[in-house]
Amino acid sequence: MNEQLDDMYREIILDHYRSPRGRKPLEKADIKSDGSNPACGDEIEMQVEMDNDTIKDIHVNCKGCAISVASGSMLAEITKGKPIDEVRRIAELVRRMLKGEQVEIPDDLGDIDSLRGVQQFPVRIKCALLAWATLVEGLKSYEDGHKQASASTENDDDEHAE
Ligand code: ZN
Repeated sequence: MNEQLDDMYREIILDHYRSPRGRKPLEKADIKSDGSNPACGDEIEMQVEMDNDTIKDIHVNCKGCAISVASGSMLAEITKGKPIDEVRRIAELVRRMLKGEQVEIPDDLGDIDSLRGVQQFPVRIKCALLAWATLVEGLKSYEDGHKQASASTENDDDEHAE
């Protein structure tokens, strides 16, 4: 049964590897972030178009092994339309899953679960994390730039917790 599960996961990963999502370059990019994983030779270029704090569109161009490309493709699929905070939560979830922690992956992040098997191959964990680390880094510099630019403006956080 475990072998069947592995086969299913392998199919999902190969599908993303063969036809990666988010390959189309963006005309307007608010964030550009590059990353590499020298241990494996993976290289990634990312462009993100932001709508305030939400990822409006994302382009991922990863040249590397199947795991890094598939992970980047899943990232492109999942993070589009998501706010920064949520993307960060997802990236943390992926990181913990790959470190072997028992984490629940919500259904709407479906394909991410297929990377779970990577935890058995420590060398490959960096491959799977490359895209996520690159995006988080890009979002951080985007936020830092905004904080500087709007240092005197008030935080218009309108979520009033009881
Ligand atoms: Zn790799």
